[in-house]
Amino acid sequence: MLDQIRRSHGHSRVELADTTGLSAQTVSNIVQRLLDAGIVEEAGRTSSGRGKPRTTLRLVGSSRYAIGVHLDPGLITVVVLGIDGDVVSRHARATPTAQDPSDTVDVLIQDIEMVLTESGIDRTRIVGLGIAAPGPIDVHRGIVLDPPNLAGWHRVPLRDAIAAATGLPVVLEKDVTAAAVAEKWTDEADGAQNFAFLYLGTGLGVGLVIGDEVVRGGSGNAGEIGHIVVDPDGLPCACGLRGCIAVSCAPLPLIEEAERRGVIPAERPDDHPTGVDAAMTRLVALADAGDDGADELLRRCSEHVARALAVVSNLLDVDRIVMGGPLWDRVGQMFTDTIPARLDELRAARGVHPVTVSGTVLGSDVGAIGAACLILDEALTPRTTSLLVPSA
Ligand SMILES: [Zn+2]
Repeated sequence: MLDQIRRSHGHSRVELADTTGLSAQTVSNIVQRLLDAGIVEEAGRTSSGRGKPRTTLRLVGSSRYAIGVHLDPGLITVVVLGIDGDVVSRHARATPTAQDPSDTVDVLIQDIEMVLTESGIDRTRIVGLGIAAPGPIDVHRGIVLDPPNLAGWHRVPLRDAIAAATGLPVVLEKDVTAAAVAEKWTDEADGAQNFAFLYLGTGLGVGLVIGDEVVRGGSGNAGEIGHIVVDPDGLPCACGLRGCIAVSCAPLPLIEEAERRGVIPAERPDDHPTGVDAAMTRLVALADAGDDGADELLRRCSEHVARALAVVSNLLDVDRIVMGGPLWDRVGQMFTDTIPARLDELRAARGVHPVTVSGTVLGSDVGAIGAACLILDEALTPRTTSLLVPSA
């Protein structure tokens, strides 16, 4: 019912009974408990023209909070979300170049403390902390296994380290799945959602929502699209194939090719994601300024992404593709201009239904927001173990 109240922006008890199928008395009892707990408040009255005016309900955003942390190989983001989904505090920084994971974990803990202190939120109102991390992960043990783009990370028990430092309940989720969760949260459309979230960061991956459910797969590691072949004559990949998307248009191979062709100067000291990200900014700026070499590389990249998205669309028959992640602010315009038409040429179901392609409205915070939404989801949905609602 909390989820209904959040999504509806102003349902009354009568409408809640209609949408949940619960009896008027049950709805009334639950609403009273939520009012008593300060999680919900009466927002006003509406008149529908028949019967007496109804009192609408809304979530009290400041009643409960969740923290979301996103560990991207290039960017660490921490957000605090109110129960209504609004970001009340945030901080982002480049991921340290440290090879020792414990140094990076210390930075995460510092950032969490700093954001909490700056927000001025009473800690007793924080229900938990979600972490979005690059896969593969061991969801059950809360371990980050061997992410290809996080140097030195091997079986790091990240969940328990953060839980011990903060004293909060902590969940660990794959970054792309967290991003899909964030998108699902913000969408207020009625009806089941079927979409793929293309995450563009140091690597590329997809988060999936099918039939309104987040798809995690057997181990929480669904969405690995890195070895979809998009260029059969392309570079060899460590997996044994050629022209996988991971070696065709992830930022590092793209930048390496731009340097080989002399499109941008080869002056990076190493392959750290921060330097690669800066080089991507340069490449996009060159393309925008009319540089043919930069434009060609980025157009080829968007063609490859369209091919990979066609495979995903054909396999899962999604209604929409949402794109986002740290790279989106740079490549978004090019991708939005070119991918929809190309995807439609490649899709098997193009005559049956359209697939909309759009960028996330959540910007580069999408992973961190999604991680916090995981906690709020636990608290708001019927699957909850009564994290929030006081027992009767
Ligand atoms: Zn491969």
